[in-house]
Amino acid sequence: MTQQRNTAAWREMDAAHHLHPFTDTASLNEQGVRMITRADGIYLWDSEGNKIMDGMAGLWCVNIGYGRKDLSDVAKRQMDELAYYNTFFKTSHPAVVELSHLLAEVAPQGFDHVFYTNSGSESVDTMIRMVRRYWDVKGKPEKKTLIGRWNGYHGSTIGGASLGGMSYMHEQGDLPIPGIVHVEQPWYYKHGKDMTPEEFGVAAARWIEEKILEVGADKIAAFVGEPIQGAGGVIVPPSTYWPEVQRICRQYDILLVADEVICGFGRTGEWFGQTHFGFQPDIFTTAKGLSSGYLPIGAVFVNDEVASTLAAGGDFNHGFTYSGHPVAAAVAHANVKALRDEGIVQRVKEDIGPYMQQRWRETFSQFEHVDDIRGVGLIQAFTLVKNKATRELFDNWGEIGLMCRDIFFANNLIMRACGDHIVSAPPLVISKAEVDQMIDTAARCMAEFERQLKAKGLA
Ligand SMILES: *Cc1c(COP(=O)(O)O)cnc(C)c1O
Repeated sequence: MTQQRNTAAWREMDAAHHLHPFTDTASLNEQGVRMITRADGIYLWDSEGNKIMDGMAGLWCVNIGYGRKDLSDVAKRQMDELAYYNTFFKTSHPAVVELSHLLAEVAPQGFDHVFYTNSGSESVDTMIRMVRRYWDVKGKPEKKTLIGRWNGYHGSTIGGASLGGMSYMHEQGDLPIPGIVHVEQPWYYKHGKDMTPEEFGVAAARWIEEKILEVGADKIAAFVGEPIQGAGGVIVPPSTYWPEVQRICRQYDILLVADEVICGFGRTGEWFGQTHFGFQPDIFTTAKGLSSGYLPIGAVFVNDEVASTLAAGGDFNHGFTYSGHPVAAAVAHANVKALRDEGIVQRVKEDIGPYMQQRWRETFSQFEHVDDIRGVGLIQAFTLVKNKATRELFDNWGEIGLMCRDIFFANNLIMRACGDHIVSAPPLVISKAEVDQMIDTAARCMAEFERQLKAKGLA
């Protein structure tokens, strides 16, 4: 791009012409954006030369870390050779075939087919259309309703935002669309009351059963959930939750769908979150880590039974101009191959994941206003609370979280506030020294945060 311009000029142009996602444009333009100009490993650099540690892997997606020259080389080679062709009319190309073959290798057994999209939202919308088509072909077209969860996140298209349970998204644009209902999330800390986590996991799964009975099993097409809710604040369900959800879905003849857009491709230390929790969905959606964010691409994995049912139905009238885009497919292939052959996923499970989780827990448990410390692999969180003993949360959910997040930002560490949950999901290639640095910086920020809480009379 035009490197001659300076930060002030870029800010001015951004304010003049660029509408940002999930942003209050007026207030952003008053403050001015932060310009990120370069990245390497787990670090970003802004246009003022600040080096910033990315504790969020972008938006939970840069699993392999920034600056992989091998991926940009693959992109250039593919672009020179075949920059674009579609996969619609009895046509394919080597990049998408190679990727499909590799994905079938890393996917859990029985998942031998994928459908390509360009994002997580498109994967979710594709899944919704597939699920409904599946029941049409089965001769049960009245099975149309999908069950999602409050505070779940499934993207921002009309289907994805409807299936997600973010009420602030539903408020804008008359969502959810018909045929989508929600149940409560399995957040033990808030909803667990006197139960053990194991008891609560089963009880939370039974909320799905209640919803099925309320709507009628003959009308329910699928239950959809993230193995670990990401944008909802890294809600890690008790170990009993997913097996019970699976039992319920099987009992009532309902498809089980895992939204693996964040959990997929190594985030939990397994290739997919379903393996960590020990359940077998019928369909799962992916994006983010599939290409580590180097290019937009998503994939919907279907098990062999769903694949053969859809095939029996003839034409599936759905697809995107860029389904299986050759350059995105080639880069995703190189990314997934590297995650496997360099042992990056395995290292999350056996080495760096457990190290992060231990350091995360031991460090943040020492703070007065931090509780519900949790995580798996390289996805972790804690919740800011007013009173640990009574589990009382702060008033005005999210306000305190933002105040805390801003302290991290001011110290060149990117962590995210989801309400008053503070979450982190760094690139999977983070070293132990970098984990130490991240935790030490975050701990200093948390000490400053607690000082500010007291100074402002908020705690
Ligand atoms: C990010 C995300 C999506 C949406 O992906 P986009 O690429 O932003 O459309 C869907 N589901 C989950 C679980 C996500 O985290």
